Amino acid sequence: MRARAALASLTRDKAVDMSISDNLADILARIQAARKAALHSAPQTRLVAVSKTVDEAGVRAALAAGQRLFGENRVQEALGKFPALKAEFSDLELHLIGPLQTNKVKEAAALFDCIETLDRAKLADALAAERDRSSKCPRLLVQVNTGEEPQKAGVLPNEAGELIAHARNLNLPVTGLMCIPPHDQDPAPHFGFLAKLARDHNLAELSMGMSGDFEMAIRFGATSVRVGTAIFGERIAL
Ligand SMILES: *Cc1c(COP(=O)(O)O)cnc(C)c1O
Repeated sequence: MRARAALASLTRDKAVDMSISDNLADILARIQAARKAALHSAPQTRLVAVSKTVDEAGVRAALAAGQRLFGENRVQEALGKFPALKAEFSDLELHLIGPLQTNKVKEAAALFDCIETLDRAKLADALAAERDRSSKCPRLLVQVNTGEEPQKAGVLPNEAGELIAHARNLNLPVTGLMCIPPHDQDPAPHFGFLAKLARDHNLAELSMGMSGDFEMAIRFGATSVRVGTAIFGERIAL
């Protein structure tokens, strides 16, 4: 009985791994197709595989399929999964896509290759102080709250210029912008707005688009899309 149960769970895990690899191939093909169809696609569009709530076996399945760029939204959860994987896969790249508290800056600067959620001057100050202390500084994207939603992280659109200037004055490596459009709205105007804001500030990177709207984001010039559910399956709510 026990052997049969073990076998059943083994086959199930294998099936999950295979669907992760199939899903990845499917998303990569859809990214290429959307880029071809777009009038103004970016020079490249990278896939950030969003692995929040996904266990290490799931991340390993994606790694086995060739995926090397991952996104996590919580520092603590990422610390539990990624230090060992980064030691094992030297080309693994990790992005923070969730809000960052200043008391986690030290750990975040050591673990992440890019922080996509710079959204306030105080956080820029803390990142600069950590850079001066440890010489560690991930690449940074400024998260813009394009929908001006009170509960959502991100700098307000009319304050974005000031924050970008502040970070640049501190010599922080700000390379682009990120947004999460409101759930209940057409994302297109938000993507268009973010693209224009990036052009106005001479920023090359645009992180926008998730499972439900990444093809639309590519039409507006996304240089990276953040896809979770469509690769790893539905998340169990935390
Ligand atoms: C969870 C998350 C995603 C991925 O969302 P899916 O709809 O599962 O693709 C993208 N960006 C951010 C900031 C997220 O928190």
